[in-house]
Amino acid sequence: MAALRQLLRLTKCKVQITPCHTHQFRCLSGFVNLPETHQMLKKTCRDFANNELVPIAGKLDKEHIYPRKQVQKLGELGLLCVDVPEKEGGTGLDYLAYAIAMEEISRGCASMGVIMSVNNSLYLGPIQKYATQQQKEKFLKPFLHGDKIGCFALSEPGNGSDAGAASTTARLVGDSWVLNGTKAWITNGYESEAAVVFATTDKKAKHKGISAFLVPKPTEGLSLGKKEDKLGIRASSTCNLIFEDCRIPKENLLGELGMGFKIAMQTLDSGRIGIASQALGIAQAAFECAIDYAQKRIAFDQPISKLQAIQMKLADMEVRIESARLLTWKAAMLKDAGKPFTKEAAMAKLTASEAATFVSHQAIQILGGMGYVSDMPAERHYRDARITEIYEGTSEIQKLVIAGNLLKQYALS
Ligand SMILES: Cc1cc2nc3c(=O)[nH]c(=O)nc-3n(C[C@H](O)[C@H](O)[C@H](O)COP(=O)(O)OP(=O)(O)OC[C@H]3O[C@@H](n4cnc5c(N)ncnc54)[C@H](O)[C@@H]3O)c2cc1C
Repeated sequence: MAALRQLLRLTKCKVQITPCHTHQFRCLSGFVNLPETHQMLKKTCRDFANNELVPIAGKLDKEHIYPRKQVQKLGELGLLCVDVPEKEGGTGLDYLAYAIAMEEISRGCASMGVIMSVNNSLYLGPIQKYATQQQKEKFLKPFLHGDKIGCFALSEPGNGSDAGAASTTARLVGDSWVLNGTKAWITNGYESEAAVVFATTDKKAKHKGISAFLVPKPTEGLSLGKKEDKLGIRASSTCNLIFEDCRIPKENLLGELGMGFKIAMQTLDSGRIGIASQALGIAQAAFECAIDYAQKRIAFDQPISKLQAIQMKLADMEVRIESARLLTWKAAMLKDAGKPFTKEAAMAKLTASEAATFVSHQAIQILGGMGYVSDMPAERHYRDARITEIYEGTSEIQKLVIAGNLLKQYALS
């Protein structure tokens, strides 16, 4: 572990002196020239996933076990605060590094991927950007290295895609905000020790009347709903957060009053790079499972990998993965370069999540009957893949984001 932390420390220095991202991207096709630092990080994360996650991912999924020990280890490695600057106690790497790490960890265990992505992108992301120094002491520092993890509460039972219609309210009473309402589908809901919560402070102003709050957990007036019984990512918890006259100090407003919707949308732009990477990890795991099996399974006196029908499938799978990876890395690099990346993040998430579903579906087909039973991981990858097309904006919403940006880009003068 210590060696790994040392490696991350080394890579930090190098990331700052790598050539400009545009140049890096030109060199990336074929991955020959991924910067050395990122190659090292990729290998480190792959080794961690192979040693610590792959052997237990099936059991965690089957028994719905939250991987507390492995989350702690991930934190010690610096993988729960990848892009938080070093001066704030984080690992201080860039978003490309985060995308690479997310893919490798999710390849080992997709549940671990979502736990990691929520802490990095959805919880620490907005806090890093909008919190005051005083808020960071309480809500950022203890959440960097696995001692505590956070969650992000935007969705509600009545509105998911239409996030601007938040019906949870926050009312200022004396020196406290009083929160009422229910937030739905909250990842890390059971284990998290703080939440970024979005609530309406001025209903008439619609989405401009939504504000963001930092809520410690547990807090009086905040209770948890039942743990959702999910199709996939079953080692991560998902539940409702129920606010009933829940009082938090006035100073727990994150950013300015009425800025919540903007904070949420900006957070999701970055988050989508994380989910695209999670989808890539799932797709890669399914692909590896299929190509390995195809070379070992004998039918009609030869390995099925000799059959062109199987080769066509493998080729299609690889093309989808590689295309999605390039889109994902491009979105990450645009973010790192301080350029707009909303459209690219949506394209990456759309493509990678559909690739994960396609590849894991094909993997089951290649495994035949063995693809359908839990003795092999293919069926888990198939179940895990599906969520990446839903959370942090469904595929339909990604298309609306892409089209909206295109129409602005190509607006007639
Ligand atoms: C396992 C899991 C974990 C999650 N984790 C979190 C979390 O940590 N924090 C959080 O805040 N939320 C979380 N979510 C919520 C998730 O982001 C929402 O489920 C998602 O945004 C979709 O919202 P919805 O379920 O309300 O579907 P709806 O918005 O009701 O959509 C239903 C269908 O209608 C389509 N649709 C809706 N509007 C449009 C439109 N304008 N145009 C075209 N089609 C449309 C959708 O694409 C979808 O196909 C999680 C969800 C799950 C299942």
